[in-house]
Amino acid sequence: MSDVVIVNCTVADGRVADGAEPVADAAVLVRGERILLAGPREEVLRQADGATELDMEGAYLTPGLVNMHTHLSLSLPGQGGENVKGFTPHELALYMADGARRTLHCGVTAVRCVAEKDHADFALRRAIEAGRASGPRIFTAGQALVCTGGHGHESSDTLECDGADAFRRGVRTQIRAGADLVKVMISGGIAGEHERIETPQLFTEEMIAVLNTAHAWGRKVTAHAGPAAVIAEAVELGLDCVEHGYQLTPEVAAKMAERGTALVPTLLVTRCKEFFDELGVPEWMQCRSLGAGPRHLESYAMALAAGVEVLLGSDMPPFWRFEGTSATVRELEYMSQGGLGPARALYAGTLGPARWLGAERDIGTVEAGRYADLVAMDADPLAATSAFRTIRWVMKGGRVVRDDRAGGGRP
Ligand SMILES: [Zn+2]
Repeated sequence: MSDVVIVNCTVADGRVADGAEPVADAAVLVRGERILLAGPREEVLRQADGATELDMEGAYLTPGLVNMHTHLSLSLPGQGGENVKGFTPHELALYMADGARRTLHCGVTAVRCVAEKDHADFALRRAIEAGRASGPRIFTAGQALVCTGGHGHESSDTLECDGADAFRRGVRTQIRAGADLVKVMISGGIAGEHERIETPQLFTEEMIAVLNTAHAWGRKVTAHAGPAAVIAEAVELGLDCVEHGYQLTPEVAAKMAERGTALVPTLLVTRCKEFFDELGVPEWMQCRSLGAGPRHLESYAMALAAGVEVLLGSDMPPFWRFEGTSATVRELEYMSQGGLGPARALYAGTLGPARWLGAERDIGTVEAGRYADLVAMDADPLAATSAFRTIRWVMKGGRVVRDDRAGGGRP
């Protein structure tokens, strides 16, 4: 395969959050799966002898988005979720492969799965890596660990554990299957009928067991968590990331910032009535979710004020059409409007996740040596995050997987 040189574009990536300037009239030289050189056009073209030219027609080029909270096998309470739960293993695998393909098409070139059914995520990852299925790069926790009857226990995307020994075994079971990280549910949430968001669900020794075992194996731990007291304890014990964080306080936010614990706020989950209606989500869950919305936004503002690292994660299937765009882009818009602003939103959707995943040498910036995982859009993402709605071209690993202008626009 000959080299490809992408021209006639403005390149921006998450380094703008640290003060780097976007490069106008840029070019990106791609050899095989990776970027060989990126920078001002003249400089790059000097090295691009014989490369096939790809004209971006004045588009803005950024790294592909990284969605840090996804479930490709999500099943919420209600009819939509019941259908997914009723799938045979074969149906489930095909359903997840379809979601993966749609996800990539939306410009999401990597995902962090934080609870998937039956270890089907590992099979999906192998299929994508082998080129048998189309989809984003997958970093996954496998099944989430949960106490008996705890948050999400209703389906096979969680593993019930009780006591420190069982949680240690739970961590090792996921790592044996190929988990890159560990997900644990340490409080109640929105989707559990018999719990409240505030319900603590792990004893201290269980939390320590999860953290110590995962860290010994070199895996980070992220926790589904709502209430401040539960989060404060887990952060103190060494938790690496908080999902949702519905009820943070300034004190616990300060503690997270100090300890370097990231937050994936998933703002969409408390403001997505239309999505819940589509899935037939029952009234009690809708009330709890939408009722938690204002406090959730306050909590997010506290995290920003304290300097907590916030990362993009939709919780909703990343490709789901929601309020005129994908759930992933809508979440990034909410994060941006909620106080982050466009430059840091770009960081939170690309380089920030890459760093958390320890994958910043492979993904997250438009730089020599990184995978050529790129998206092109018509509008300027540093003027407004809504620019991501105009994504019209997607490349993953040097292969163009979407090009609306060439008629490749259907997922
Ligand atoms: Zn989730």
